[in-house]
Amino acid sequence: MGASTETRPVVTRFAPSPTGFLHIGGARTALFNWLYARHMGGKFLLRIEDTDRARSTEPAIEAILDGMRWLGLDWDGDAVYQFARADRHAEVANELLAKGHAYRCYATPEELAELREQQRAAKQPLRYDGRWRDRDPSEAPAGAPFVIRLKAPREGEVTIEDRVQGAVTVRNSELDDMILLRSDGTPTYMLAVVVDDHDMGVTHVIRGDDHLNNAFRQLALIRAMEWPEPIYAHVPLIHGADGAKLSKRHGALGVDAYRDEMGLLPEAVNNYLLRLGWGHGDAEIIDRDQAVEWFDLGGIGRSPARFDMKKLENLNGHYMREADDARLADLAAPGVAKALDREMTSAERALLLRSVPFLKVRAKDLNDLADGSLFLFRARPLDMDEKANTLLDEPGKALLAQARDVLAATSDWSVPELEAAIRTVAESAGIGLGKVAQPLRAALTGRTTSPGIFDVLALLGREESLARMDDRI
Ligand code: GLU
Repeated sequence: MGASTETRPVVTRFAPSPTGFLHIGGARTALFNWLYARHMGGKFLLRIEDTDRARSTEPAIEAILDGMRWLGLDWDGDAVYQFARADRHAEVANELLAKGHAYRCYATPEELAELREQQRAAKQPLRYDGRWRDRDPSEAPAGAPFVIRLKAPREGEVTIEDRVQGAVTVRNSELDDMILLRSDGTPTYMLAVVVDDHDMGVTHVIRGDDHLNNAFRQLALIRAMEWPEPIYAHVPLIHGADGAKLSKRHGALGVDAYRDEMGLLPEAVNNYLLRLGWGHGDAEIIDRDQAVEWFDLGGIGRSPARFDMKKLENLNGHYMREADDARLADLAAPGVAKALDREMTSAERALLLRSVPFLKVRAKDLNDLADGSLFLFRARPLDMDEKANTLLDEPGKALLAQARDVLAATSDWSVPELEAAIRTVAESAGIGLGKVAQPLRAALTGRTTSPGIFDVLALLGREESLARMDDRI
């Protein structure tokens, strides 16, 4: 390696191409860069690589920024837009030309196609052969279009001391002279990335290992400019549970789907993404502060991590239980309103908030939480699901009627009072408390699962509870 950048303050960056959503792999790359910068007290920058004009879209940019905000991956300074920097990229290409580290190539598309054909026939790797590399500029066909190519070293080899992959070596003879500036004067991706990373002061390039091959070409350009070399960390891509590269079928969705469709909490997604390819002993539950304290490049695994939806759900359940009640109520409310197909009243919002402590212990996500709360807001007489209906057979109804009478006689609608009342019903019938709770739960919620029956009674209140029982008796 050449000049080490270890002594510079750490600057990382996330450089998404806005051609689609912020998918789970991109989110993990962003998180690793964010964590490393925060751990080192450095900066985390965002660069939108929007040079592919045909495929880059405004909604995709919005989705990426939105996803990062949701995950709490705040970037320092303003996002840099790569396309806006095209003049600067061209300037560097021309500087390389002036220094003799680049040259004009006049090879026509037909010539290059022919070259590829010959190489294919001879079973050789397809590479530009450097036909304009050493030609005198005076031989240039007048007025003909040209591209600018890097005059890359041909002898020797390059070794990258990658922080994840270890030492990786490539012979220079395997790399051809890449194009920096196209014949229309637009920069290539390879040029733009290197110039932007340099100008942004990036010290650590942490990204997917699908970019490892690019690193060797990028390094040739960095060395030609005599710029400081970044430290590389190429992270193995995420695979599905079956070991194949992650695809939609495995849950490789946009981050927005984890929020909107699956109802997950961002802290759970962050914790999950962190553990997906990075580890610290056998710690599984790692909150943000702990992650900032622990994160290092050495903890990134060398083999691809497998995406495991069950694990993500379990983590989400944990963070649901930990989460603040008011926040959960706010997050669940839109789902409740949607299911009810109407706005919630402020009294209902207050009831939702009161019910959260009882609901969140059993909810694996926000959808579950919203769904579990619906019985509180449904109009009487309640729809019964099938299982609830079977609990309200004749013996069930008889128990319900007894329960109704003792409950109606309570002086104070509090959990201890309610429990004492139901206990007398169970005792006089010679059955367990749970047996009395079953038809009661069915009548009060229309379902066979709910928070504890006394909490349900307390949440619904005397009048509503008794009315729901009367509906079934
Ligand atoms: N824009 C590239 C991508 O989205 C990332 C380039 C880089 O990180 O160097 O794959």
